[in-house]
Amino acid sequence: MLHKNLIAGEWLVGESEIENRSPSDVTDLIGVFAQASSDQLEATLDQAQQAQREWAAYGMERKQAVLMNIGNELMARSAELGALLSREEGKPLAEGKGEVYRAGQFFTYYAAECLRQIGENADSVRPNIEVDVRREPVGVVAVISPWNFPTATASWKIAPALCYGNAVVWKPANITPASAYALTEIIARQDIPKGLFSLVMGSGSGIGERLVQSPKVNAVTFTGSVPVGKRIATAAIQNLTKVQMEMGSKNALAVMDDADIDLAVTLALGGAFGGTGQKCTASSRLVVHEAIHDTFVEKLVAGTKAMKVGHALEEGTQMGPVVSAEQLAENLAYVDLGKSEGAELCCGGERLEMPHDGFYMSPGVFLNTLNDFRINREEMFAPLTSVIKVASYDEALSVVNDTNFGLTSGIVTKSLARATHFRRNARTGVVTINLPTAGTDYHVPFGGRGDSSYGSREQGKAAAEFYTTVKTAYISAGPV
Ligand code: NDP
Repeated sequence: MLHKNLIAGEWLVGESEIENRSPSDVTDLIGVFAQASSDQLEATLDQAQQAQREWAAYGMERKQAVLMNIGNELMARSAELGALLSREEGKPLAEGKGEVYRAGQFFTYYAAECLRQIGENADSVRPNIEVDVRREPVGVVAVISPWNFPTATASWKIAPALCYGNAVVWKPANITPASAYALTEIIARQDIPKGLFSLVMGSGSGIGERLVQSPKVNAVTFTGSVPVGKRIATAAIQNLTKVQMEMGSKNALAVMDDADIDLAVTLALGGAFGGTGQKCTASSRLVVHEAIHDTFVEKLVAGTKAMKVGHALEEGTQMGPVVSAEQLAENLAYVDLGKSEGAELCCGGERLEMPHDGFYMSPGVFLNTLNDFRINREEMFAPLTSVIKVASYDEALSVVNDTNFGLTSGIVTKSLARATHFRRNARTGVVTINLPTAGTDYHVPFGGRGDSSYGSREQGKAAAEFYTTVKTAYISAGPV
């Protein structure tokens, strides 16, 4: 079946089509998806501008009802849509269902926020003048989303964009179009102005690039790689378009000599190999105190070897395939690179032959690595993690902070003093104490420092900063 794009409120075939196949089994054809043309992009942007004005004028309860319906439907259908997501992205079924349910929660959270848009007021420094400060929609928002959380990442952008009164033109990752189509189908059925929401499936270098270059776009929100993020920011700035970027990272989990070692191993395994390591919050550096290094490593390696790799939809699978042949080839090249740099690959890191023809590899652990190895400096987006041995808490903190990135970091310790010091001195946007580096809530800010993020924070109330523009009004009522 051909899945069409949503252009100016109509489902339309594109200028070409692509096939979408499961990374768990390439003989499993999920569907055929339209690729939008430049003319369709222009038409939908024009319609979006008009629809945005209508939407901004909807009452707040009407907007709230739309977002609530979308959220409730996602949650009610999380088993069905989660299975579709797992089938096309490769994460185990439980992770796919959990992601769709979480996506629903973004919509219900921002449904409530529709009613909580409260400004500020003040007296002017001039006599008999009052000041009223409130937020207005920014306009047409381009959403460029990645494949690793195809429903959740898109939802944490689309829900606040709509909540604060904007139109959305969504260019999802071309490798996960089925989840994008499913979410769009739900949104399109709601009580929204024609063309308020557009789906423009197509390549990043084609339709994606034209979208971010368009002067009809008022804001671009992106999650993906650093090179593409920089390219988008450069294009957007030519039109002085507002940008928000969430990019890669090289997150570290510090395991101290006073840690609960079993807890640390559980956190490391989940953080490193959840989602096949394809998370911007993955624990790709394990910074381990020398006093517990050998015990920790022994348990970590045993846990890694015990992980069941398999088809995303099969019962018992703990780690699914890598998303694509290209990503698998890159991962295996990083394994070779790590070995050539002097790291000891103590388990995994190999292509696996399975009953299904998919992109499977075993989770891998590098030992005896130095923080300046390339495998510890570049985002691999692979089920690979490196152990870096340190002699003290101070050395651990300095290794954690020695990176160009700065999204998340974590510490496993029973010391309140170290936990507190770490929380205050780790240079990342998110810090976790005795918790995994991956896994965040939806009602509080999310984002990083350095090469990990650019622009204002996502999620929670912080999202208002990006999806709105502030208006300051001065009012002189005059004499009574
Ligand atoms: P990209 O950064 O290439 O893609 C992310 C999104 O941007 C996709 O929708 C993509 O479309 C789109 N895009 C690509 N080029 C352009 C462009 N010039 N203009 C506008 N949009 C564009 O990531 P990849 O999917 O190629 O993954 C490569 C690496 O990026 C991963 O190995 C990982 O290191 C990192 N990454 C990080 C993520 C994170 O969560 N921080 C998420 C995904 C990837 P299309 O899919 O059609 O190319």
